[in-house]
Amino acid sequence: MTAQPAPSGTADKSAAVDVVVVGAGFAGLYALHRLRRQGLSVRVFEAAAGVGGVWYWNRYPGARCDVESVDYSYSFDSALEQEWNWTEKYATQPEILAYLNHVADRFDLRRDISFETRVTDMVLDEKTLRWEVRTDRGDVVSARFCILAVGPLSNANIPAIEGLDSFAGEVYHTAHWPHEGVDFTGKRVGVIGTGSSGIQAIPHIAKEAAQLYVFQRTPNYSVPAGNIPLDDETRAAQKAGYAERRRLSMLSGGGSPHQPHPESALDVSAEELRQTYERRWELGGVLFSKAFPDQLVTIEANDTARLFWEQKVRAVIDDPAVADVLIPKDHPIGAKRICTDDNYFQTFNRDNVSLVNLRATPIERIDASGLDTTEAHYDLDALVLATGFDAMTGSVQKLNVVGRGGRTLNEAWAEGPATYLGLGVPGFPNLFNIAGPGAPSVLANMVLHSELHLNWVADAIAFLDARSAPAIEAREDAAAEWVAECTRRAAETLMPQANSWYLGANIPGKPRVFMPFVGGFGVYGEIIADVAAAGYNGFDIHQDLTA
Ligand code: NAP
Repeated sequence: MTAQPAPSGTADKSAAVDVVVVGAGFAGLYALHRLRRQGLSVRVFEAAAGVGGVWYWNRYPGARCDVESVDYSYSFDSALEQEWNWTEKYATQPEILAYLNHVADRFDLRRDISFETRVTDMVLDEKTLRWEVRTDRGDVVSARFCILAVGPLSNANIPAIEGLDSFAGEVYHTAHWPHEGVDFTGKRVGVIGTGSSGIQAIPHIAKEAAQLYVFQRTPNYSVPAGNIPLDDETRAAQKAGYAERRRLSMLSGGGSPHQPHPESALDVSAEELRQTYERRWELGGVLFSKAFPDQLVTIEANDTARLFWEQKVRAVIDDPAVADVLIPKDHPIGAKRICTDDNYFQTFNRDNVSLVNLRATPIERIDASGLDTTEAHYDLDALVLATGFDAMTGSVQKLNVVGRGGRTLNEAWAEGPATYLGLGVPGFPNLFNIAGPGAPSVLANMVLHSELHLNWVADAIAFLDARSAPAIEAREDAAAEWVAECTRRAAETLMPQANSWYLGANIPGKPRVFMPFVGGFGVYGEIIADVAAAGYNGFDIHQDLTA
């Protein structure tokens, strides 16, 4: 064991620790707590000024989780589960951030986190199998293990639109929203992007702005968020049933306790089909995509969900011509992450809101006064970029990670992210990536997923320590097989049929690989548990430094 690092702010700039963790979001905080409990010294580096990760940065109006609060929360401490009171079924960004701050204080996590510190380089010393980690604040830390807890949706995508820099008005990205908030009252506002972030923000911006132009390139499926306040009785019942709720979540497809209908969407009566979708519609959140087990497997089953959705949505849009532009036609429902909203489609009934169809009239350029499409000029005071992320790999690839033979992780992933179980990368011993490519990642509840991954990592470290083995390293053949397995499973679903960020399709030039493991959260949990129980097959356990 090495000594505990000095506290944040007064940190020794050249320290040695057991573990460096990059990121202090849900995963990074739990990594610190879990590994510290195991007697390891841990240093966390976080670029933001506070904890929270994605929930620290994404403060746009309407930001809210699409997984129920009771499920989107840590399970590792039952006292924490019992003492925290979620006020709404689907928590807002401020409430989730307050929860994470509470966790950081309750478990005394801050003393091992260096805030406003960005990791720049992580370089393997092949002789010692230790990592040298450098930061933009001059830290040089030697670590035996590195945990990348940078989040799959943390590297904002700024679109390459000609003249964007010349715009004289205000420009905001949903993923870097000002902490003091933005007042759009009386302003002419343009929003580019109609994914989850845009769809959540647009109804709120519309209420303030004098005029709102929504620049839509691809329409998206969105279901009502279904948010409601939680009363004491509901909260008490949830808390009383927590153990069972967690058990079901860990076995489920996506990390929530709700099970799909046991039969195919094509085998049930018309009435049962309707009622099942109706129940999911009422539940709100992303689980509308998982009402039936074959909904994302056959286009016939998917069509039943799509038709139900379309009927619901057309019913709330006044102008059928506007509805035609808002209804997706290019991908199965759920093949891109379904969005959740608070009166998004109804927003287009407002007099101060205009939908601009970029498929018909693409953006040509932005100038000081506003935005030009091929058809018109739009005068704007403010521009909101709800243009998403270089997802899954973007934040990892910003770190200069250099493994065996001087090969960088970016070189290793040039054709797409190759991992074994999403956890290990050949040539990068003792480096673990959390809830990223090769794992269920964004297809699952990220809180429980982070816990699952970090418990596995902590056990792997204990396994090494029990044998005085310096390192664990994914094998090339195991990673190649795992990548093939992930690709094969994805190909058996409708998921690759959408041009989604799951495939990297939103970033020009990015290799087109379906990155998450689609086989289900519970199935994945069993796979990684079996690998551990079998002595980490597919990994080399290095017994000495020359191995
Ligand atoms: P996104 O889903 O990638 O959406 C980005 C939007 O920007 C798309 O409509 C895209 O159009 C558009 N866009 C990008 N570049 C453009 C350009 N050059 N010109 C015109 N339009 C452009 O990003 P997001 O909305 O931030 O959501 C990302 C993910 O974050 C979600 O899928 C979800 O997993 C997560 N998220 C979750 C919540 C929640 O829990 N409720 C909220 C927000 C985000 P195209 O589709 O045509 O590329």
